[in-house]
Amino acid sequence: MSYRIGFIGAGNMSAAILGGMVKQGVAPDRIIASNRSTPKLEALAGEFGIQTTTDNHQAAGADVVVLSVKPQMMKDVCLDLAPHLDHKPTIVTVAAGIPMASYEQWLGRDHAIVRCMPNTPSLVGKGASGLFANAQVTDAQRQRVESMMQAVGITAWVEQEALIDAVIAVAGSAPAYFFLMMEAMIDQGEAMGLDRATARALTLQTAAGAAELAATADVPVDELRRRVMSPGGTTEQAVFSFEADDIRAIVARAMTRCANRAAEMA
Ligand code: NAP
Repeated sequence: MSYRIGFIGAGNMSAAILGGMVKQGVAPDRIIASNRSTPKLEALAGEFGIQTTTDNHQAAGADVVVLSVKPQMMKDVCLDLAPHLDHKPTIVTVAAGIPMASYEQWLGRDHAIVRCMPNTPSLVGKGASGLFANAQVTDAQRQRVESMMQAVGITAWVEQEALIDAVIAVAGSAPAYFFLMMEAMIDQGEAMGLDRATARALTLQTAAGAAELAATADVPVDELRRRVMSPGGTTEQAVFSFEADDIRAIVARAMTRCANRAAEMA
């Protein structure tokens, strides 16, 4: 890779993405991060050897510019950067809830812009990111963005912007659903007499193991579930209880509310 990548905002998400890239062998001198204050920049320079600056315009001089400030800061950051993008970088935004039309208004319609919706497991290299490109993005630019985000997990392109809301429901917000399930299982494990540390360790390992098994098995997840459910056995009782409480409708309602909220915010 010979192109340069500039991160605007050096918080958690930038640290995860650029850290993943360096760990994957991207030369640190091809990465520059800017932040309005210096402590995070010093930490990133120390840990990954990247270039840093407090001047957003300098980072925006890169070939790929990743906008990674909080959504409420995004308009001001874009308006300030707009006059400094004549070199036509590929612009990637990881901010939630801001539609493509806003970026095109703030930066100009002639820019190649990708909306990226990552999730928090990106922080441990297990992210799942949805990507949506505007009409200016070329195939080569798509590949650059894809390989960048694959440093912290898997990627999936959607060809309609509205589908980003579905990505938020399936991946962006979804770590919280699994955390909620883990919380409930840890609490109940403790209520059944296990000490909390044991309930936690067993729950977390089971979640990680189930995910890995599902990802590597050559059968669909419903078949994996059936294989745990011996007729007349213990698992069957638990699954029947979930089904009697209509877990599928519960999940569908929750995801619909999530996607509706994403649409409202955009
Ligand atoms: P964060 O840790 O708060 O990072 C934002 C960074 O932007 C901070 O370091 C902040 O500097 C800096 N900043 C603010 N205004 C700036 C400006 N005008 N110029 C330069 N730097 C500026 O937030 P984050 O969690 O990384 O989130 C960044 C973006 O990722 C957000 O838009 C969020 O929606 C998106 N996102 C995050 C996640 C996630 O899991 N974290 C998931 C999906 C999407 P200071 O240190 O001085 O405050």
